[in-house]
Amino acid sequence: MIKASIGVAAVGLAVLAASLSGWGSFPLILPVITLATAGLLYVARGIPKFLRVFIAMLAGAHVVVVGLLVAAAAGLVPAGYEGYVPPVSTPIGASAFALLIYALSFVPVIRTIMAIADRYFEAGAESMIRVPGVGLVRATEGGIGTMFLAVLIGINLFQVALNVRLNFFSRDLFNSFQDRNAEAFWYQLLWVFVPLATVHVIVALTEVYLGYVLRIRWRSYLNEVFVGEWLGGSTHYRMQLSHAEADNPDQRIAEDLRKYVETTYSLSISLLTQSATLVSFVAILWSISQGFTFPGTDYVVPGLLVWFVIAYAVLGTWLTHVIGRPLIRLNFQQERYEADYRFSLARLREYAEQIALLEGEPAEKERLGGRFAQIIRNYMAIVSRYLKLQTFTLSYFQANVVVPYLITAPYFFAGKITLGQMQQTVGAFSRVESALTFFISAYTTLADYKAVIDRLTTFEGAIAEVQAGARAEERLRLKEGEDAALRLHNLMVALPNGRELVRARELVFRPGESVLLTGPSGSGKSTLFRAISGIWPFGHGEIVAPQGATMMLLPQRPYIPIGTLRGAVTYPAVTGTYRDEEIVEALKAVRLPHLADQLDVEDNWTQRLSGGEQQRLAIARALLARPDWLLLDEATAALDEPTEEAIYRMLRERLPKTTVISIGHRSTLAAFHDRRIDMRPTASGDQFSPTDMRAPAAAQ
Ligand code: ADP
Ligand code: MG
Repeated sequence: MIKASIGVAAVGLAVLAASLSGWGSFPLILPVITLATAGLLYVARGIPKFLRVFIAMLAGAHVVVVGLLVAAAAGLVPAGYEGYVPPVSTPIGASAFALLIYALSFVPVIRTIMAIADRYFEAGAESMIRVPGVGLVRATEGGIGTMFLAVLIGINLFQVALNVRLNFFSRDLFNSFQDRNAEAFWYQLLWVFVPLATVHVIVALTEVYLGYVLRIRWRSYLNEVFVGEWLGGSTHYRMQLSHAEADNPDQRIAEDLRKYVETTYSLSISLLTQSATLVSFVAILWSISQGFTFPGTDYVVPGLLVWFVIAYAVLGTWLTHVIGRPLIRLNFQQERYEADYRFSLARLREYAEQIALLEGEPAEKERLGGRFAQIIRNYMAIVSRYLKLQTFTLSYFQANVVVPYLITAPYFFAGKITLGQMQQTVGAFSRVESALTFFISAYTTLADYKAVIDRLTTFEGAIAEVQAGARAEERLRLKEGEDAALRLHNLMVALPNGRELVRARELVFRPGESVLLTGPSGSGKSTLFRAISGIWPFGHGEIVAPQGATMMLLPQRPYIPIGTLRGAVTYPAVTGTYRDEEIVEALKAVRLPHLADQLDVEDNWTQRLSGGEQQRLAIARALLARPDWLLLDEATAALDEPTEEAIYRMLRERLPKTTVISIGHRSTLAAFHDRRIDMRPTASGDQFSPTDMRAPAAAQ
C-alpha cells in the first residue's frame, strides 16, 4: 500500500505541475484529488485487507482515467475517439467511492464481516495455482485470493465502462432513426455494437469463471479453519457442556459458511458495480439535463433529472426498509427452526431400534409435529411480510418502465432534446435508479446475510469463550509429572452449574497396579474419568499425569463411526496406521473372529453389532493403540461373566505394560484387579470421595 501510495502521489504531482504550467485544459481539482487518493492509500494501510483490495483497485482506476484525461488534453487521442474519453467526474467518483469504503471500514458490523473474510485473504498457508501461459505458481492462499479479487474488481469496473459506451451507442442509434439515416444506422450496428457486444460476452464469461474459482477456494479454506477450531482441544464437547446459544454447529459450518462466502462476494462486487454505474450515469444525466426547467415553471434547475432520480430512489429505498425490516429476525429464526427439525429427524434415525422397542412413535410424532409447526408458523409470518414487501417492490419496478419517459417526454415534445437523447436519458435514468435501489432488490438477501453473520459470530464467540475458559484460572489443571504415577492432588470435580461432585485430597495410581473403582450410580465415577482424561474443565485442583504417557478411555457405549469396519476398529487412528493383519489379530483376540473378513464392509456398525460386540470392538482398539493407561468405564458391562473374565485375562497378557483402571459394579471384577477404590459420601454427605479400600485411613 505504501508503494502504491507513493506511485499515485507521483502521478498527482506530475499532473499538478502540468496544470499549473498552463499546459492541458483540465481543472485543478483533478491533481488535488489524485494527491488525496495517495493519502487515502497511505492511511488505509491498517484496515481489513478485503477492503484494501477494493480501495487499491479504485485508486488504480482513478490513475488510469486521469491518464486518459491528460492524454486527451495533450491531444494524444486520435480523431473520432474523443467520445471515449470519460468526463472528469469519473476519476473523482472512483476516489470518492474509495473514501466511502475507508469510512465503511469503521462500521462495527462491517468489521465483523471483514474479520471472517480476512481469515482467508490474510491466510499465509502455502498453495499453488495454475496460471494459463505461465504454469504452476507458488503463493500463499491469501495472496492467490487477493489476486483473484483484484482481477474481478478490475473486470467489473471495465464492464461499467462498457455500459457507458453502450449508452452512447443507444443515443446515436436512435438519432439515426430520427434523421432517417440508414448509413449511420448500419455503421452503429456493425462497427460499434458488434465489437462491444463481443467483448462484453467474453469479459462476462471470464468473470463468471474466475468468480466461481475464488468462491470455491475461499469456502474450502474457511471450512478447514472452522472445522479445525471446532474440533481442536475438545472444543465441540465443551461447547455442548456449557453453551446453549451456539446451537446446531453443523448448520453453521455447512450452510452458513457457504452463504457467507457467496453473499459477501456478490454483495461487495455488486455494491462496487452499482456505485461505479451511479457515478458514470449521474454524470450523463447531469450533462443532458443542462438548462432543463422545473416542470410548469421557467425556473432552471441544474441537473434536474439527477435530483428527480435521487428523490425517487430514496423514497423507494426508505419504504422498502420500513416494510422489510422484520424479515431479518424472521429469517434468523427460520434457519434455527429448520436446523432443529433436521436434527430431530437425524436423531430419530439413530435411535430407531429403541424407539421401535419402546413403541415411542406416537411421542416422536408429537415432538416432530411440534417442531415442524414452529417452522410453518414462522414461515407464514415470513410469507405475509414478504407479500407486503413484494406488493410494494413489484409496483415500484413496474413504474420504473414509464417514469423516465414521463419525466423526459415533455422536454422531447418541447424540442429540447432529440429522440436519441431521450433514449439515452431513459437508459441512464434506469441505470441510476437501479443502482440507487440496489438496496431494495438486495433487501431480502441482506436480511438473510445479517442472520448468517450473527450465527457465524456467535459460533466463533462460543469457540473463543470455550478456549478462553480452558485457559482460565478456576479450572482443573492437568500437569505432567516427573515420575510414572498418576496423582490426584486437592482435587474437586464440579458440575457445569458449579455443584461440587467429587473431592479427592490425595490419590495415587501407580503404574502396573490395576484398580477397580466402584460406587453408587451418580457418584461421579464417569465424571472423574473425564477429568482424568482432560476433557472435563469444571472444578479445581491438580491432576498429575506421567510425562509423555498415553491414555485411552473406553466408555460403556463406544462411539463407532459410520463407514468400513476397518475404520471402526482403528478409530481414532487415521487410515493406514495399522496393517490389516494386526487388525484381524485384534478382532480375533476380542472374540470377534466372524468379523475378520469384513474389514472393507461399510455399515452403520452401531446398529448392526450387539452391545457386547460393540464393547469388544472397543477393546480391540485398545489392543491396537497400546496405551500406557487404559480407563474402562463399565466397558465390559454388556458381556457375560466368562467372556468378561477372558477379556481381562487377554488384556493382561497382551498389554503387560498397560495399567488398567476400571469402573464396574460386578463383584467378580475384583478378582482381576490389584486394588479397589470406592466412592464414599463425604462427611457433609453431598459429595463423594474416592476411598482406598485396602487402606481406608490413607485416602481421607
Ligand atoms: P456415575 O458414573 O458415577 O454413575 P456420573 O459421573 O456419570 O456418575 O454423573 C455424576 C453426576 O453428574 C450425575 O448426577 C449426573 O447427572 C451429573 N452429570 C454428569 N454429566 C453432566 C453434565 N454434562 N451436565 C450436568 N450434569 C452432569
Ligand atoms: Mg458412569
